[in-house]
Amino acid sequence: MEIFKRLDKYQHEQLILCNSKIAGLKAVIAIHDTTLGPALGGCRMWTYNSDGEAIEDALRLARAMTYKAAVSGLNFGGGKAVIIGDSARDKTESLFRALGRYIESLGGRYITAEDVGTSVEDMEIIRLETRYVTGISTSQGGSGDPSLVTAYGVYKGIKACLEEIYNDGSIAGKTVAIQGVGHVGYHLAELIYKDKGKLIVADINDAAVGRVINEFGAIAVKPEEIHTQECDIFSPCALGAIINDDTIPELRCKIIAGAANNQLKEERHGETLCKKGILYAPDYVINAGGLINVADELEYTEGYNRERVLHKASKIYDAVARLITISKRDDIPTHIAADRMAEERINHIRDIKKIYKGE
Ligand code: NAD
Repeated sequence: MEIFKRLDKYQHEQLILCNSKIAGLKAVIAIHDTTLGPALGGCRMWTYNSDGEAIEDALRLARAMTYKAAVSGLNFGGGKAVIIGDSARDKTESLFRALGRYIESLGGRYITAEDVGTSVEDMEIIRLETRYVTGISTSQGGSGDPSLVTAYGVYKGIKACLEEIYNDGSIAGKTVAIQGVGHVGYHLAELIYKDKGKLIVADINDAAVGRVINEFGAIAVKPEEIHTQECDIFSPCALGAIINDDTIPELRCKIIAGAANNQLKEERHGETLCKKGILYAPDYVINAGGLINVADELEYTEGYNRERVLHKASKIYDAVARLITISKRDDIPTHIAADRMAEERINHIRDIKKIYKGE
């Protein structure tokens, strides 16, 4: 891999390789852009097939974090750490403490949190060595499980989409088909139920389905049929790449708005949705509640505050409404409008930073 050529492609600022044989640590920290503030992004642990694959993943994920923070109105940049290893087998105290020491040595340029393959408990070990970690458990004064805040953000984003399609943001009487009723999907189902929406759900976990049938009167369908349901909103809350060549012809919804990451299998699928007249709420805008949740832990000296976080997550409504406006203004699909919205904010803030405001 030609490293600098790769960094230049999306203007990544920094790439750090962390190696400790004693701790069994091989990790990559990628910092994409710190115009808005320190780079914030989770720490992933994964069995990469090659060093190049790990670097590529760290760079890709770090850039995505820049965009997510920017559209969410947060004053953070984008970064990500990846540990090369098997999260079921290779976790040790010294591995996470070694990574914590590397993160501390960056002086706050990068702040970590949990991600795929790491847990709140792992973050508490990292915290023994660095101040630059967030997403600590509630028992330690942290933000804890973010899924309720994520669901609330998705709910607000759905309302912005309904306003666009029906000139009325109310959920009452609308049908929402939720794929995956795990942490986020369950809380979302509850919000829809309380607003008198109708629920269709699917999950590969029967107990999860049973819970939403019993508690919220949901109708269950087979997992492979959820995207084909006639509904107002299809809400992917399970897997990535659910919007693809096979599923798009079978969609019978007006809106796609859910928590899952990377819903579009390829960028071009966002264009296909647009041509088909389906309004797509870009995943990284609508599922930003989780990031807003952990960011709050860092932003206020008095500590995390759930009420304030929910207020900030409610602004996802405005973010979705704004990207729809940009999409219409520039005649582009919504997923491209989201990127444009992020870039506009970063560029504006970069510009105002030219104004000297004294020391
Ligand atoms: P989760 O693991 O608690 O829930 C996912 C659910 O999807 C599980 O119940 C699982 O059984 C189900 N599922 C898996 N494969 C399925 C299939 N083929 N069909 C139907 N159901 C299936 O995860 P979560 O925390 O609820 O997150 C859901 C999605 O949202 C993930 O893509 C995650 O990356 C994303 N996300 C979550 C958060 C958060 O705060 N938890 C924040 C941002 C994004």
